[in-house]
Amino acid sequence: ATFGTLSDRLTQTFSALRTKGKLSPADVDKTVREIRRALLDADVALPVVKDFTSTVRERALGDEVNKALNPAQQVVQIVNEELVAILGGEQRRLEFAKNPPTVIMLAGLQGAGKTTLAGKLAKWLKAQGHTPLLVAADLQRPNAVTQLQVVGEQAGAAVFAPEPGNGIGDPVRVAKDAVQFARTRLHDVVIVDTAGRLGVDAELMKQASNIRKAVDPDEVLFVIDAMIGQDAVATAQAFQEGVDFTGVVLSKLDGDARGGAALSVASVTGRPIMFASTGEGLDDFEPFHPDRMASRILDLGDILSLIEQAQKAFDQDEAQKVAEKFATDTFTLEDFLAQMQQLKKMGSIKGMLGMLPGARGMREQLDNFDESEITRTEAIIQSMTPAERRMPKLLNGSRRLRIARGSGTTVTEVNALVNRFEQAAKMMKTVAKGGVPNVPGMGPI
Ligand code: GDP
Repeated sequence: ATFGTLSDRLTQTFSALRTKGKLSPADVDKTVREIRRALLDADVALPVVKDFTSTVRERALGDEVNKALNPAQQVVQIVNEELVAILGGEQRRLEFAKNPPTVIMLAGLQGAGKTTLAGKLAKWLKAQGHTPLLVAADLQRPNAVTQLQVVGEQAGAAVFAPEPGNGIGDPVRVAKDAVQFARTRLHDVVIVDTAGRLGVDAELMKQASNIRKAVDPDEVLFVIDAMIGQDAVATAQAFQEGVDFTGVVLSKLDGDARGGAALSVASVTGRPIMFASTGEGLDDFEPFHPDRMASRILDLGDILSLIEQAQKAFDQDEAQKVAEKFATDTFTLEDFLAQMQQLKKMGSIKGMLGMLPGARGMREQLDNFDESEITRTEAIIQSMTPAERRMPKLLNGSRRLRIARGSGTTVTEVNALVNRFEQAAKMMKTVAKGGVPNVPGMGPI
């Protein structure tokens, strides 16, 4: 994933330090050199690397490390703080207009992910009770309007587009009309998707700048593909000059990019990274938290994001009901199935485990984790009759054989599932009654 190599190299550098008590100036120099090389190899822009390493070096040679109980840990802490700083420091939220509609304009190169982002933003805003309107002001690309209509539909948001067949429309006019339309129809947020080109060009910038002048947006978000590497800085600077964006959205953070764009753009332009896009689906999107990203890069874990994902997937009422079922011994395989499906909503289990501190060290276990096991377990339960799901005691030999055949698994797998279910139910019953279960094989976290 993005930052993978950078993260590996930084954690290696730090684990070499761990065995040392005091750090000599030579140790610090060596560490800083390694950090410098790792950042450059990750495509972070040279001026950013220079600033970063000189600050880290200065701090690492100072008293805070010298006097620290654990100097190596202190260096990691310093690197963490400085990473947070170059990623923009504090999280910056969207600013809404005092008089709606709030106008958000999207700018960036073609293929950066603007149209997809428009859909993601709309869905995210809708979930918070807003009534977004998507505006197709990209009249350059033949398919752009249709594409926006498709994402609009997926997001359940209205789309404002010029009538087809009117020749090539005027995007400035469309954007202006859209804001007017939003005002009368009570859309409180307007998201204007603009045209991009494959490279920065004067005409594109002029058009974007004209749209900006015409609709006076509350936010101008510059969308940048994390995979563009070394070009990131020049592109960002061109857009900063051209449209003076207020925030950055990093897209395609799910790819194998080296991450340099992410680490350069905020500090070079002085504009905060506000959102991260992590896939093609409308839910693959999150507000950007510099501190959490830094923790992920340094393998310090991202517990907060993990908890948020879990909260998104599990609703409280449901959790309460399940707890009651455990306490009263009425938890069935049917409930178990429902739980598993909820778990799947949280995204890949591997992705979740990857957010735990030290996850990089468990690389091998993570790679061996078999997501298809969930699918097989689901298949087994789905091959049972409703009565069997409610009363696993019914499951005699011939029934188990039938289920194994029906689900394309083996009797051994069916047996293992039933055993696991019974153990889990017993354990959860203890928990639900306020006891502490004895979980075999689980050390302190
Ligand atoms: P636009 O030209 O800036 O409007 O870019 P699009 O929204 O059309 O996106 C270009 C391509 O990138 C499409 O195939 C999208 O599905 C894909 N895409 C957009 N965002 C992401 C992302 O975060 N991750 C991945 N993997 N693909 C993305």
